[in-house]
Formats: sequence, structure tokens, C-alpha cells
Amino acid sequence: MKIIKPLPSGLGPADCFTGVVIVDAVRNPDENSDTGCAHVRFTPGARTAWHKHPKGQTLYVTDGVGYVCQREDAVKEIRAGDVIVTEANEEHWHGAHPKHFMAHLAIHGADEDGNTAVWLEHVSDEEYNNL
Ligand code: MN
Repeated sequence: MKIIKPLPSGLGPADCFTGVVIVDAVRNPDENSDTGCAHVRFTPGARTAWHKHPKGQTLYVTDGVGYVCQREDAVKEIRAGDVIVTEANEEHWHGAHPKHFMAHLAIHGADEDGNTAVWLEHVSDEEYNNL
């Protein structure tokens, strides 16, 4: 057993997120496992850019109310306790409700090059409000 003290919380980079997003790494892929996990907190209105995961992703909503969306589909509301599974290379975004915080654990595998996500364009306000 080992207890790992947390790394400092990081601000989600502006290339990948809209609004204020705080990311805490739980584990990064390493020689023991290609699974990465992060706890991500979104302030109201904040969201990821469009992106996809080469090995897919599982989200577990730990707090609050948020949105998730895949291409060619309407925005769907998510709440604490929901589990969202995206298949490999399925383009999507996730984020907070306009008036509520949302936090989730994000669990994803790394590909042969160590990549867990491929980032695309930002989510427009029109797309974000397409409930
Ligand atoms: Mn994702």
C-alpha cells in the first residue's frame, strides 16, 4: 500500500476548456496500467471542447448538475451518480449546467503513444444551449 499526497490542483487549459475548470489527477497512465483517472470540477457554464478518446472513457458524476453531448445529438442533462460511457473515438463534450457546478471522475485508457484524448474545436454557445 502507498498513500500518495495530491499534486496541486490544475486549471483546465484554455485550448481544451471553456470557462473555469479545475483538474485533480488521481492517476496517470504508467508502466503498471494504461488507465488514467482525474477528478474534474466545472464551474457553472464551463465545459470541455469537443474531443474524443482513443480508448473510450467512463465518467462518474460525483457532484452537481451538468451536460453531456455527442455529435448529431441533443445535449443531455447529467446528475450526481450518473455514469456516462463513451466508445473509442466517439466525439463528445461534457460540462456544467449553466447555473450549477458539476464534478466528475474521468477514467480513460492511453493509446500506444500515451494519449488519452484528442482535442477538437470549442463548444459554441449555440451548441451548449441545444437541449
Ligand atoms: Mn470525454
